[in-house]
Amino acid sequence: MYSLRLPRFASLMAAASAAALAVFGAQAASAQAQPDGEVTALVGGSVVSVEDGRIIPDAVVVIEGQRIVRVGPRSEVQPPVGARIISTEGRWLAPGLMNMHVHFGLKLPGAAGAELQNETDAQQVLRMAHNAERSLRAGVTSVRLTSELHGNDFALKRAIQRGEAVGPRIETAGELIVPTGGHGFHEVDGPYAFARAAREQIKQGASWIKIAISGGISDTHGDIAAAPMTDEELSVLIDVAHRNDVRVTAHNGSPQAAMQALEYGIDAFEHGYHLTEPVLRRMAKDEAWLIPTIVVSQPGARAFYQRIGSPDWYLARVDSVGKDHWAVLQQAIRLGVPIALGTDQFPFEDNEGTTATVREAELYVDAGMTPLQALQAATIQPARMMRRDTDIGSITVGKYADIVILDGDPTKDIGALRSLSFVMKGGAVVRDDHGLSGQAR
Ligand SMILES: [Zn+2]
Repeated sequence: MYSLRLPRFASLMAAASAAALAVFGAQAASAQAQPDGEVTALVGGSVVSVEDGRIIPDAVVVIEGQRIVRVGPRSEVQPPVGARIISTEGRWLAPGLMNMHVHFGLKLPGAAGAELQNETDAQQVLRMAHNAERSLRAGVTSVRLTSELHGNDFALKRAIQRGEAVGPRIETAGELIVPTGGHGFHEVDGPYAFARAAREQIKQGASWIKIAISGGISDTHGDIAAAPMTDEELSVLIDVAHRNDVRVTAHNGSPQAAMQALEYGIDAFEHGYHLTEPVLRRMAKDEAWLIPTIVVSQPGARAFYQRIGSPDWYLARVDSVGKDHWAVLQQAIRLGVPIALGTDQFPFEDNEGTTATVREAELYVDAGMTPLQALQAATIQPARMMRRDTDIGSITVGKYADIVILDGDPTKDIGALRSLSFVMKGGAVVRDDHGLSGQAR
C-alpha cells in the first residue's frame, strides 16, 4: 500500500487546507466553453510555443468558440472587429497544464479520511466534482485519472463535458485491475478474467487501463520484487486493451515485472520508484512513458505527513524511498525516457508555497530537465501520451483554447508557473485574478 498511501496522506491535508479552499473554492466558473460564434482576442502578451521553445512577443491569439483560429505577432494578426479583447501585455501565455496521475476521489488514512469512511457514491462524486473545479482553477485544464471507484469518474467526466460540472478535460482508467491479493480493489484472476475486466472498463468509457503488476512496500504479504501476474494474464490484458485502441499503464515496484510488461507492449509506468537502469533503457527504446509523481516522495511532502501525525517509521520510509525515487528520475531524464507530469496528489494541493502540479515541474528541472523540457512534460508531452495532441497541449491554430497566463517566462525559469493568475478552458475564462477580462473571477 505504500505508494498509494503516501500520496493519500498528503492529499487529505490539502483538502483540509483552508488556504487552498479560500483560493480555489470561492467562485464557480459560470461556463467552461465559449459559445460558438463568439470571438475573443488575447492581445499583447508573449506566447510560448512549447514544441520548440520559441516566444512570440506582442502576440495576438484569436479564439472563435472553443478553438484557437489565429496566433501571431500583432504586426501580422489583428484582433477581429467586435471581438472581446483581453489585454495580456507584460505577461506570458502558456498552454493549460496537464496532470497525468490524479485521483479526484482520494480518501486517506487519518482524521479526515475517517470522516469519509461511510461516504456513498453520490457523496463521493460531488466531492470529486469539487476537486475537479479546484484543479481547473489551479491551471490544470486536462487530467488523467489513474484509478477511481464504481464508475464515479465516468459520471463526472460526462457532467463536465455537458457543462453540468466545472473541471478539466478528463481521460480516465476507471478502476485499477489487479490479481487477487494485489495492490488494489478490483481483483481478478486468469487471462480471460483480466480481458473481461478491461472490456468492462472500456465499455464504460475508460481510455486507459491501469493495472498493478507488483506488490506494494507496506503490503502485508508478497514481495515488492515479485511479479505475480502470469505471462498469459499480462499479454491477454494488454492485447485486449490495444485492440480497443486503449493504452495500458502499471503501478509497479518490481524491475522483473516491468521487464515482463514491456515485453508485452505496456505503454507506461506510474511512479517508477524502483526502476533499474536496464528497465529505463528499454523504456527509452520502446518509448514507454514514465509518470514520475516525484512530488510525493520529496521533502515538500514531508510537511504534510508531519502535520497529519504520520509515525516516525513512515517518515523514515518516505526519506529512504525518496532518495531512490529521485535517482530514478534523474536517470530517466538522462536516458531520454518520455516523461509526462503527474503528481498522485490533488493537482491544486499546497506544496512548498505553490501547487503540487507546479512543484512537480520545478522538481523536474532540479533533476536535470531544462525549464522548456519541464514545461513540455506539463503540456505537450501529456497530450502526446494521451494521443490528443491534435486538440490540446499547445497554443496552436485548431486546438482548444486552453491557456494559462503567467508573469514571467517559464522557458527561462519554470518557477514562473507560480505566478499563474488566469485560466482559460475552451475559450471561456475560468479564473482571472487580475481582472484582465474586465471582471475578476
Ligand atoms: Zn495514484
